[in-house]
Amino acid sequence: MPHVVTQSCVGDGSCVFACPVNCIQPTPDDPMFELAEMLHIDPTTCVDCGACVSACPVDAIKPHTLLTPGEEAFTLINAEYHRHDGRQRAPLAPVRPRLHVRDRAEPLRVAIVGSGPAAMYAAEEILTIPDARVSVYERLPVPYGLVRSGVAPDHRRTRRVSRQFDHIRRHTGLTMHLGVEVGRDTTHEQLLTAHHAVIYAVGAATDRPLQIPGADLPGAISATQLVAWYNGHPAHAGRTIDLSHRRAVIIGNGNVALDIARILTLDPEALADTEIAPAALAALRTSRVEEIVIAARRGPEHSAFTLPELVGLAATAGVTLSVRPEDLAAAPAGDKKLELLRGLPPTAGTGRQIQLRYRLAPRRVLGSDAVEAIELERTDGTLTGTGLTETIDAGLLVTSIGYRGAPLSALPFDATTGTIPNDGGRVVDPSTGRDVPGTYVVGWIKRGPTGFIGTNKICSQNTVAALVNDYNADRLPNPIAAPTAVDTRPATWRARAPRMFTRAR
Ligand SMILES: Cc1cc2nc3c(=O)[nH]c(=O)nc-3n(C[C@H](O)[C@H](O)[C@H](O)COP(=O)(O)OP(=O)(O)OC[C@H]3O[C@@H](n4cnc5c(N)ncnc54)[C@H](O)[C@@H]3O)c2cc1C
Repeated sequence: MPHVVTQSCVGDGSCVFACPVNCIQPTPDDPMFELAEMLHIDPTTCVDCGACVSACPVDAIKPHTLLTPGEEAFTLINAEYHRHDGRQRAPLAPVRPRLHVRDRAEPLRVAIVGSGPAAMYAAEEILTIPDARVSVYERLPVPYGLVRSGVAPDHRRTRRVSRQFDHIRRHTGLTMHLGVEVGRDTTHEQLLTAHHAVIYAVGAATDRPLQIPGADLPGAISATQLVAWYNGHPAHAGRTIDLSHRRAVIIGNGNVALDIARILTLDPEALADTEIAPAALAALRTSRVEEIVIAARRGPEHSAFTLPELVGLAATAGVTLSVRPEDLAAAPAGDKKLELLRGLPPTAGTGRQIQLRYRLAPRRVLGSDAVEAIELERTDGTLTGTGLTETIDAGLLVTSIGYRGAPLSALPFDATTGTIPNDGGRVVDPSTGRDVPGTYVVGWIKRGPTGFIGTNKICSQNTVAALVNDYNADRLPNPIAAPTAVDTRPATWRARAPRMFTRAR
C-alpha cells in the first residue's frame, strides 16, 4: 500500500530525508527541486514504512487507502511523475553536511529581520551551531509571516507548518521580539553593533500594480490587500469590501487567484471553524457574490496555478469550476494540468461558480463612482492584443499579478526584480560590486515571490552556509554591544489589533 503526497505539500523536503529507500522526488539536491509543484512518492519503490508521514510538517502524506475522493487524483499524479521522470536514483536520500564552525571566544550571534518561513528556517539552521544565539525581530504582533497572513484559512493542513516553527521558536538560543519594525523602531546599524550578522527575511509585502484606466476606482483591490483582509492582518483588518454584486473578476491565474476565488465562493460555514478574520467571515455570510471570472492573458498551457491547487479547487464542495472549450482548443496535449482542465464542464450552470478564462488582457475598468465592468482585449495567446474586446460586468475587481518586495532604507534595492541584490545570500552593493558587511538575505526578498513555504528552507540553508563561511574567515566583526541594547519598545499593533488571527467563532 503506497503512500501519496497530496495538495498541502509545502516542499520542504523533510520527507525526503526521512525516507529509507529514496522514493520521494525531486530531492533538494536536484535542480528540479526549486521548480517542482510538489514532491512525489514512487508507488513501485515505497515500502510503506510511514517514516515520511511523521516527518511531514503539514500532514500532506497519506496511505492511499485514506485519501478523500477529492484527493484520489494525487495517486496518479505521484505515480506519473516517476513514470515520466525515469532517471536513475541514488540508493539513499542525500545527507546534508553539518555546518562547521571554527572555535571563537565569542559565540555566533545573528539578528533576523522578519519571522516568516525563510526567517524560521534560517534560525533553525543557525541554532544547529553550539552556543549560537538568534534574535528575531518581527514587526507584527504575531510571528510566521504569510503562513498566517497569506495561506488561505481553509488550507488548515498547510497552516500546520507553524507547529514546526513553534518548535524552533522554543529553542533556548532564540529570542523573538514581536511588534518591532526594523527601520522604524530600530535600525540596521543598531542590529549590527549587537550581532555578528543581520539576515533580512522581510518577504515581498506589496503587489505589482495594474496600470490601466479606472484601476483606482472603489471596488478594485489588490490580492495582497484582499488576502490580508480575510486573514486579519492588522493593516487591513478594518477594510470594508463591497460584496453586494453578483460577479467578481480576478486578473491573473496563479495560486493566490485560486485561493481568493475559493474563499469568495465557498459556503461561509465551511470557513467558520478556521482562522479567518471575524469581520471577513461576517462579510462573506452576507455576500451576494456567486460568480468569479479568473482572467489570464495567455493560453491555458501557461496557467500559473499549480496542479495540486487546481485539483483542490475542482474538488471544492458546492462550487462549479468551468473552462470554455474554445479556450482549450489550441492548447497542446499531454500535460496533466491541461488534461484536468479538459475534464471540467464547459459552462457552470447555476449556483456558485468559478470560470477560468484565457487570452484576455484587461484594458479599462468602467464605472462612474465604483467598478461596474472590466473591458478586456482578446490576445493571440501570447501578450499581443487582437483588437477584439469583451466587457464583463462586475462589482469587484481583484488584481492578482504578483507580489513584490519593498525597499528598506539602509539597504540596496533592485527596483526591477523587487529584491535586495545579493550573491548567494550575501547582500551586494551594486554601486561598488562589494558585499555589504555582515548583511544577508533569505526568502522572497532574496529570490522574488516564487516557490512554496518549503522552498525557503534550502534558500535559507544556503545563505546561512555563506554567513558561517564569513564568520569562520573572520570577515564578520565582533559585536560591541549586547543584544539587549537594541531598541525593542513595543509597537502600536498590539493595542490596535488585539483580535488578530483569532478564530472566527
Ligand atoms: C496569498 C499567499 C498564499 C500562499 N499559500 C501558500 C500555500 O498554501 N502553501 C505554500 O507552500 N506556500 C504558500 N505561499 C507561499 C509562502 O507563503 C511563501 O513562500 C513564504 O511565506 C515566503 O517566506 P518569507 O519568509 O520570505 O516571507 P513572509 O512570509 O512574507 O515573511 C516576511 C516577514 O517579515 C516581516 N517584516 C517585513 N518587514 C519587516 C521589518 N522592517 N521589520 C520586521 N519585520 C518585518 C513581515 O511582517 C513578515 O512576517 C503563499 C503565498 C501567498 C502570498
